[in-house]
Amino acid sequence: MAGTTNAFEMAQRQFDHVADLLKLDPQVREILRWPLREFHFRIPVRMDDGTIKVFQGFRVQHNDARGPNKGGIRFHPSETIDTVRALATWMTWKCAVVDIPLGGGKGGVVVDPATMSTGEKERLVRGWVQQMWKNIGPRKDVPAPDVGTTPQMMGWMMDEFSKLQGDYTPGVITGKPVGGGGSLGRTEATGFGVIYTVREAMKHLGMDSSKCTAALQGFGNVSQYAAIGFVEMLKGKVVCVSCWDREDKVSYTFTKMDGVDPRFLMSITDQYGTIDKAKAKAAGYVIEDGEAWISKEVDVLIPAALEGQVNADTVKKISSKVRIIAEGANGPTTPEADEVIKERGIFMVPDFLCNAGGVTVSYFEGVQNDMNFYWSKEEVLSKLDEKMTVAFQGVLDMALKEKVYMRDAAYMVSIARVVKAMQLRGWI
Ligand code: GLU
Repeated sequence: MAGTTNAFEMAQRQFDHVADLLKLDPQVREILRWPLREFHFRIPVRMDDGTIKVFQGFRVQHNDARGPNKGGIRFHPSETIDTVRALATWMTWKCAVVDIPLGGGKGGVVVDPATMSTGEKERLVRGWVQQMWKNIGPRKDVPAPDVGTTPQMMGWMMDEFSKLQGDYTPGVITGKPVGGGGSLGRTEATGFGVIYTVREAMKHLGMDSSKCTAALQGFGNVSQYAAIGFVEMLKGKVVCVSCWDREDKVSYTFTKMDGVDPRFLMSITDQYGTIDKAKAKAAGYVIEDGEAWISKEVDVLIPAALEGQVNADTVKKISSKVRIIAEGANGPTTPEADEVIKERGIFMVPDFLCNAGGVTVSYFEGVQNDMNFYWSKEEVLSKLDEKMTVAFQGVLDMALKEKVYMRDAAYMVSIARVVKAMQLRGWI
């Protein structure tokens, strides 16, 4: 899924680069370059036809110095231990950059959820919890949704854990459905968080958002709400979104140069993020190849699909008009592409800052579960905006002070916080 790039090597290269800049102690580096714990397990599932299928599952806990491990579970046919390691590592930096008291973790299952019935999916996620329940919990490790997993699945997982534990334990997992222990605003959180950082980047660069255009890659949860936020909050224009077509097994870009209607597109998108081509065409959308989004003459590019998408090849296609890249996805840009972006002076809002809105509202969800008192959507989103804005400002200040690339600045902020927690706990 990472193309030619190994995501974990990428995460380590990014870290090593900043560790060099910071002249980080080699022993501290050794702790942070690798996850502290990994779980590899097999999940037997009774399929609807009566046969048993065995799925490969993972959970990686990168670092819990600042608090319980935190991070989603991804269901993807090309999931590997290295993608999960990379994503767990980025979660440590993500929680630290927004200064929430959580560490980094990630889970995965090698599976295409679109090929399973609802009952099979329920048995699979309950099986995941049966394998992992002793090693997760509100004070240990708190999973959440990610690519291929949904709030409903989180609800089943919370139920399975609560049954095994013998206590109702909503805080074991976040991203649960509203009414089932979930938080209002969690669905919008990642995409809106992306837009709060874009808004701050535009302020910094002196851009008028209502005159700006954007091209988005992907049309899953993050991209959908980023598109809505760009249009409704920033009053800008989104000229295209791309998506993976499940049937054709390729990606397409859905373009409308006078502005796409994200809510209409959502209404013709299935639960796996595939847009109905016929309905889009009938509504005047031009359907282009999957890479067309990256060469659009827009002010903002928002890669919000999978890792490794902006790489040595695709980076060459970025138009000279682009001023901001806001990474809705985790790890969309390879180190080679970063060099080109740096050289061209495009303003980067790096992934673990840009898309931290999801985990921030997950943290709020856990807080509400602990209190057993729930906030309004407005309250959640205004707390989210504040967290994202403060985090953005902290990273920007670091970038300006140290004269470094925004990704490096974000690493500097996060590494310093994690190292401090390790020191305070006497680990180093
Ligand atoms: N999967 C999301 C991420 O990559 C959210 C994680 C969470 O809410 O714990 O940030």
